[in-house]
Amino acid sequence: MSENPTNASLSAWAHSVMPGGVSHELRFRKPHPIYIERALGAEKWDIEGRRYIDFKLGAASQLLGNSHPAVMEAVAQQLTKTPYSGDCHALEITWAEWLQKLFPSADLVRFTGSGTESTMLALRLGRAFSGKDKVLRIDGHFHGWHDMLLKGSKPGANTPPSLGVSAAITDLTVVAPPAIDAIRDYLEQDPQIGTIFVEASGANYGSVPLPDGFLQQIRDLATETGKVLIFDEVITGLRWSPGGRQARDGVTPDLTTLAKVVTGGLPGGAVVGRADIMALLDPGKPIDGLAPPVSHKGTFNAAPMVAAGAIAAMELLSTGEPQRQADAMADRLRNGINEKMGKHGVKGFAYGDSSTCHMFFGGTSIDGMSAAEIRTQPATLVSGLRNGLLERGVDLMSFTSCVTSSAHTPELIDEALEIFDETFADLAH
Ligand code: PLP
Repeated sequence: MSENPTNASLSAWAHSVMPGGVSHELRFRKPHPIYIERALGAEKWDIEGRRYIDFKLGAASQLLGNSHPAVMEAVAQQLTKTPYSGDCHALEITWAEWLQKLFPSADLVRFTGSGTESTMLALRLGRAFSGKDKVLRIDGHFHGWHDMLLKGSKPGANTPPSLGVSAAITDLTVVAPPAIDAIRDYLEQDPQIGTIFVEASGANYGSVPLPDGFLQQIRDLATETGKVLIFDEVITGLRWSPGGRQARDGVTPDLTTLAKVVTGGLPGGAVVGRADIMALLDPGKPIDGLAPPVSHKGTFNAAPMVAAGAIAAMELLSTGEPQRQADAMADRLRNGINEKMGKHGVKGFAYGDSSTCHMFFGGTSIDGMSAAEIRTQPATLVSGLRNGLLERGVDLMSFTSCVTSSAHTPELIDEALEIFDETFADLAH
């Protein structure tokens, strides 16, 4: 590394060692990404010493704010013993018990290496339990990057959104709109569908909200038709409430996929669910000579350093107080953005559930719009907003969406709103 690195110089270097210079395709940015050196609370600083008010927060994993002292301290303590040895340990039991207490669907818990691994495992369990290969998933919902659930992540595109994903696999994925009558028709037409996957917030942490009552309707339909119902709560788990969206709305799926906040913002994930389905993972209970009946491994599952940080986070998040703070800050942000948009005559509005804030340009309501329509926003406005904010010191999670944390204060939100004000003023000209 050169003596005085800049974002541009690091990007040039990165391109010589990593495709596109990045480790995640959504971190790619022209002319270059920002290279973050330090993050604390609701702020972070790049390699050039520039400060940002952070609304990305570790891809929505840092609900307590970046580098929360209780989480850092627990990880540091554990590092003096072992970060990871590949063995069973007491911390994983305490952590699993927290999830069992908090999530209504959590009879039993299995830890994984990431949210993607959680959805892979849950789907394997769904197929094994139902004895049926096909999965029905909702248009535009995101469940990680593995082959089985990639089709349909990009709204409106009923084709594999990546080279290298075989049609033999995507043919097993049925993409439906979030409309209960249409889903009933799909299930009737295709008896090979055994599992249903839903992002509990609606697509993209609620930028495409689910219709009112949808979760209860799909619960009832899955029960009536004998399908395994999986809620993807990778984002909503612990964020929407200590027990996720399922506890807040009183609708219990058969299996739940978790990651991000549930791991204290550290690498990992979990699948929780009904005892009779989760029992398929028990190596002590073979079926047809298979022990366990459903295979699941993973070198870093429930690594002690992650478990230690996660437990520290659970102790704070189980009270619901950090969520209330983060929700109040998102509310302040949404109201402020709406006011600034009005002031500058920008056609659009901010909306969102829990501690999220989404923006839609070009109308006054998204009611009745499809995921594809909501995601098709004027490109110049969308990139103008993202770049204008970033240059002035506000980082969003994606082009028109962001999350808040319990570390955001009214003062920080108001400071960010002044930056929105300047950016909208620019966009309006
Ligand atoms: N499911 C949802 C709803 C997500 O938002 C994500 C990631 O953003 C995933 C699954 C995949 O999680 P990971 O990135 O940890 O693999």
